[in-house]
Amino acid sequence: MNKYETVIGLEVHVELNTKSKMFCRCSVDYFGAKPNTHTCPVCLGLPGALPYINKQAIEDCMEIGLALNCEISNLSRFERKNYFYPDLAKGYQISQYRWPLCINGWLEVENEKGEKVVIRINRAHQEEDTGKLTHSNGETLIDYNRSSVPLVEVVTEPDFRDTAEVRDYAKKLQQLFRYLGVSNADMERGDMRLEANVSVRLEGTKELPSYRVELKNINSFRFMVAAIEYEVKRQIEALEKGEKLVQETRGWDENKKQTFVQRVKEEANDYRYFPDPDLPVLEFTSAEVGQMKNDLPELPWEKLERFVEDYEISLNNAKILTEERISADLFEEAIKQGLEKQIKPQQIANFIVNQKIKLDSEEDIASILESIANKKVDMIEDESELIRLVQEAITENKDSADAYKSGKLGALNVILGSVMKKSNGKVNADKIRQLLEDNLK
Ligand code: ADP
Ligand code: MG
Ligand code: ZN
Repeated sequence: MNKYETVIGLEVHVELNTKSKMFCRCSVDYFGAKPNTHTCPVCLGLPGALPYINKQAIEDCMEIGLALNCEISNLSRFERKNYFYPDLAKGYQISQYRWPLCINGWLEVENEKGEKVVIRINRAHQEEDTGKLTHSNGETLIDYNRSSVPLVEVVTEPDFRDTAEVRDYAKKLQQLFRYLGVSNADMERGDMRLEANVSVRLEGTKELPSYRVELKNINSFRFMVAAIEYEVKRQIEALEKGEKLVQETRGWDENKKQTFVQRVKEEANDYRYFPDPDLPVLEFTSAEVGQMKNDLPELPWEKLERFVEDYEISLNNAKILTEERISADLFEEAIKQGLEKQIKPQQIANFIVNQKIKLDSEEDIASILESIANKKVDMIEDESELIRLVQEAITENKDSADAYKSGKLGALNVILGSVMKKSNGKVNADKIRQLLEDNLK
């Protein structure tokens, strides 16, 4: 069989949590509200109603772009994407096409080998969400509460080569939206939506394949990865059989664990994009953009690096502690308070991670520091002592060690348990797991 390379590009949509909609004053807080109660002539597309731009949404979009190393276009503009479907009453969606707000960014992610790779970001642009259609009993119900909620779309170049990169990227984006406070980015509620474009080519080929399959309406990271993996296999098998693949949109059937055709793809020129004459062009000076870049909060990946450097905690601990901004902030506060009681940052980090404590409040900090001080949970940090414990446990559990070496990966837990027991739980389980893996190679 030929060797193939996977080519994936991602489109991520995120609904912003601004107060009002993108082009009118209706509230975006529609979740659970009665259908069509968050509407007005503008977002219902009534004749003569004029849109006006939500400044907060534009600022949120720029923050996202800047955090993703984009340039802000000094001139950007809205266009009408024309199509006939009742999810938008106007007959078109206001979006950005030729003049997006943010362009040419990049983000570093990890591939399946744990190496860092750079994903180029083509654009982060501003648009509006559509209304929601519900089909039941041969009828279609329309709810325009979501119509015109601010939506940002972040589009990458087709730079992903494996699903580990896709997952890392999507998680980083979700984390970023939450750190910036621009969206809850909840996948189940549809605040954040992923679309993966997938194709395969013979290894060593430079050009992009002439087709791409767009995977849509998949509302979890896990399903997205499963769908991509299924799709890559399906495409390779088809090519090996000499079949020609076509541009199409597919969904994911979680019961059958298969992708299925939804529709054959339309081209951009079917939409007859043209500049929206009702909306002004957006212009920014470099001073304004510079100020905004300066005002960005510390980004999750910056915080992660600083935690490892400043507090000398493990990369894994730092990852867990910086997952959410609130727990990262509280961790730093705990360090400040802990230093007076002579508790080292590493002890606090280990304690929080090992006990799986979720930091939500000042009280959490107080009780953690007290536990550490009282129980004198002196975590064993000394590397040579850890290695000694690990080797002792391996000798004492020879059967499990052999089982692990012959491929029964679960056997590692027996030895891990033995180390935990020997040390009275005063070791970091992840660290021990790593040491065990290294020692059993
Ligand atoms: P559309 O709105 O039609 O989906 P976009 O330009 O917004 O078009 O998005 C196209 C996406 O498809 C981008 O993420 C891009 O990187 C990706 N892409 C383009 N060509 C390929 C390909 N051959 N294989 C996989 N992904 C591709
Ligand atoms: Mg697309
Ligand atoms: Zn409205």
